[in-house]
Amino acid sequence: MGDAADADTVVSPTTTPEAVLTAAKRMLAEGLVEGTSGNISGRLPDGLVCLTPSSVPYDTMTLDDLVVVDAEGTVVSGTRSPTTEKDLHLSTLNRHPELGAVIHTHAVHATMFALAHEPIPAVIEEVVVYIGGDVPCCEYQGTGTAELGDEVAAHLADRGAALLANHGLVTCASTPEKALHNAALVERTAQIIQGARAMGATIHPLPDKVNQDMAGVYRFLRTNP
Ligand SMILES: [Zn+2]
Repeated sequence: MGDAADADTVVSPTTTPEAVLTAAKRMLAEGLVEGTSGNISGRLPDGLVCLTPSSVPYDTMTLDDLVVVDAEGTVVSGTRSPTTEKDLHLSTLNRHPELGAVIHTHAVHATMFALAHEPIPAVIEEVVVYIGGDVPCCEYQGTGTAELGDEVAAHLADRGAALLANHGLVTCASTPEKALHNAALVERTAQIIQGARAMGATIHPLPDKVNQDMAGVYRFLRTNP
């Protein structure tokens, strides 16, 4: 799973509520969620975390709907309830100080792999660069539980994305914009692989040297955004 970055040497990347809201609306526009499913978090300069609210449609969501919580999940500001899936966001941001944002979606093609409990293989170079390798699948844990939060944080120690068994996708990065890019990249890759399999094609892995070199690029980019 790899080591988490050393908390003593990392200056955590931070973002703004505006960036969280922009990513939320783009997530809807890009078809990565429907209705009120999915959620986004961003680390603020004061160390608190901005979360999308529970049960508010993305198309009408405003800055006033966002919720700010502390590291334990206690609401510090905002009138809404934070997303019911806040544990996976807080566990990931608390455990990995080099990260600044987490996005959870129910993207269709990625979720097909999550139903199969099958990692999405890193057979395209940009997946290795931006995700760090295969997209692993977490063991099933109930939605919104602390156990799911632990499972997700562990799998995101050296990856920019992980699948939630029987549920969906979670991605992470230094900013909401980059975490959204990762979600779109993983979804597109899942769709491409399914298409290639439907053609009856044999899917060839990347050469080992490419995997090793580009995974090194991912590790560098993760801690030097
Ligand atoms: Zn979900």
